[in-house]
Amino acid sequence: MIVPAVLSFSHALVRQAVGEGGIAVDATAGNGHDTLFLAECVGSAGKVYAFDIQQEALCRTKQRLSERGIADRVSLFHAGHHEMDRYLPDETRGKLQAVMFNLGYLPHGDPAIITRPETTLPALETSTVWLAPGGVLSVVLYTGHPGGQEEAEHVLQWAQSLSPKAFQVMHYQLLNRKQAPSLVLVEKRKTAA
Ligand code: SAM
Repeated sequence: MIVPAVLSFSHALVRQAVGEGGIAVDATAGNGHDTLFLAECVGSAGKVYAFDIQQEALCRTKQRLSERGIADRVSLFHAGHHEMDRYLPDETRGKLQAVMFNLGYLPHGDPAIITRPETTLPALETSTVWLAPGGVLSVVLYTGHPGGQEEAEHVLQWAQSLSPKAFQVMHYQLLNRKQAPSLVLVEKRKTAA
């Protein structure tokens, strides 16, 4: 297939921003797929910080990382992503090469526990501050669950409001599949345009 699936496209783009020894955040650890991906990108000299409000998600993530023998390069926080600036070490401010959000609910978990605009938007805003110049913020949006469409609209509105001098913003969406996930990618410019 020439047209990539949303999740693999997000990984392909994020991979370009995250190098060996880098620092990255998974804002919604869930089943740990993105945390593992980031941990592999940063390598043994790098560091990943991952957040989730569900202990179940953090256990699954820990398990996935342990199976690959790379749990030591990841710090897991049982906390909401809107609090990330309380948990991330001060010295990582402005140094994050990537922050990944995968919104919605935990697959194979409680579908009533979802990400919500009132915490997602502050977390996205904080992420833009903590990103390094050249760093990227990826947000996978889902609209098929109750509240998903509303959250997606808020995120798109927020993304469109970012200054083009400071950020490049794209939205990737399959137009002929209803309720397919879509991707917002924000790149922090190295120098103001
Ligand atoms: N990225 C994950 C993966 O690779 O498996 C999937 C993430 S799942 C779609 C969304 C996750 O966001 C759920 O595990 C849920 O508990 C978590 N979540 C919901 N609200 C949150 C919040 N305020 N802060 C951090 N995580 C949150």
